[in-house]
Amino acid sequence: MPIRLHESLTRTPRELKPAQPDGVFRFYNCGPTVYAPAHIGNFRSFVVNDVIRRLLDLEFPGKVKHVRNLTDVDDKTIKRAQDEQRPLADVTKQWTDKFHADCAALNCLPPHVEPTATGHIREQVDMIDVLMKKGNAYRAADGSVYFKVSSFDDYGKLSRVKERELQAGTALSHKSQAADADEKEDVSDFALWKAHKTEDGANSWDSPWGRGRPGWHIECSAMSKKHLGETIDLHTGGVDLLFPHHENEIAQSQCCNGATFAHHWYHSEHLLVDGRKMSKSLGNLYTLDDLKAKGFSPMALRYALLASHPRKQQNFTLDSLHAAESALKTLRAFRAALGTQSGDAVLEPILAALRDDLNTPGALGALFTLVNRGPAGVDAAAFDRVMFALGLDLNAAAPKAEIPSDIADRAKQRWEAKLGKDWAKADALRKDLAARGWSMLDRKDGYTLEPVKR
Ligand code: AMP
Ligand code: ZN
Repeated sequence: MPIRLHESLTRTPRELKPAQPDGVFRFYNCGPTVYAPAHIGNFRSFVVNDVIRRLLDLEFPGKVKHVRNLTDVDDKTIKRAQDEQRPLADVTKQWTDKFHADCAALNCLPPHVEPTATGHIREQVDMIDVLMKKGNAYRAADGSVYFKVSSFDDYGKLSRVKERELQAGTALSHKSQAADADEKEDVSDFALWKAHKTEDGANSWDSPWGRGRPGWHIECSAMSKKHLGETIDLHTGGVDLLFPHHENEIAQSQCCNGATFAHHWYHSEHLLVDGRKMSKSLGNLYTLDDLKAKGFSPMALRYALLASHPRKQQNFTLDSLHAAESALKTLRAFRAALGTQSGDAVLEPILAALRDDLNTPGALGALFTLVNRGPAGVDAAAFDRVMFALGLDLNAAAPKAEIPSDIADRAKQRWEAKLGKDWAKADALRKDLAARGWSMLDRKDGYTLEPVKR
């Protein structure tokens, strides 16, 4: 059974397969903007893409080339560097390192190539140069270069934006470019090269059109071409990237190269928190560290993110992490019971669900149907293959909550009371600990403390 995945241009599920005779599957996933820690919504998209990568690895072993970029120059990264009065490269390195650490904790496989926008200025300039020569781009009075949307007939095919908005001639202008609107010939044109402004500080590069920096969209067209070639097999990102980012990438790449840019487009849906869009002002924006501070493991977040269908909006709650921790506990015990045994119990429905448009909740459902039947007849290696596909690392540490010192002191007093056979005091302290959210588990030679899961 092939891997089938929803395709955003045709809006139907289509088979994933390499188009080129070398059999290499070329996969590009738009990466993070590195100016702050990624939030768990960003990680929903990266975890979903990691399952795609894992399925591809199983399907085309040794023949997958996965590229994911780092946006290390744009309005947000520059603003952060200027606000902190630090070199841009310092700021983006800090947040790139953090992103890598979080990805590792979430057991996401590193891409084969992780190119940066600042490392590909020349490639971007070259591409803009071709677009200028072909008449798809023009230089405005301020030295910025814009893509002429009217020069590309297929503009809007991915997002159906033409049908919806192009005639109105308004909504196409991207927020971040609104300030440049006066310089553009048409409000729907978008920046390929942005002329240097004072607020950019030292962050500018030379180009045939004067000093400046690349517009955001061109980086993915240029890096995809450099590392994967003119035509790729799969291009992915979150739904918010469908328009304008991916629409603009198609326009730039196809006008420059005269070739189909991507055979397959896939977009995963957003994560909401408590039914609302995540935002700092609503106080519902979580990073991985926020969840770790609450005592949850990164693997529980991964599990919780996979529990909803990637093409449906997911409503995240802390309760879903409690459920994920307990599911992982069950899976760990089940894996331990398997040892090195072989068997012929059928695990195929689990992978089949993943291959059927990445039905991750279906796969987890099938997994628990198997687990609930017990370990008899289950092949350990086949089970490990399923865990690989889902990226669930059962050896990753279960959460260890930090024990506050007053709790530790009370526990110690209770243990001493118990040793001294002062049962009333020991009992009272146990109740006190419970009221503070901690339960004490006694063993012969000591005790452990665990936060009470609500
Ligand atoms: P950014 O760092 O803003 O470029 O975003 C990195 C990735 O996260 C992109 O693929 C976005 O589409 C995705 N993304 C951003 N916000 C969310 C969200 N709330 N839920 C799911 N994915 C998101
Ligand atoms: Zn991109």
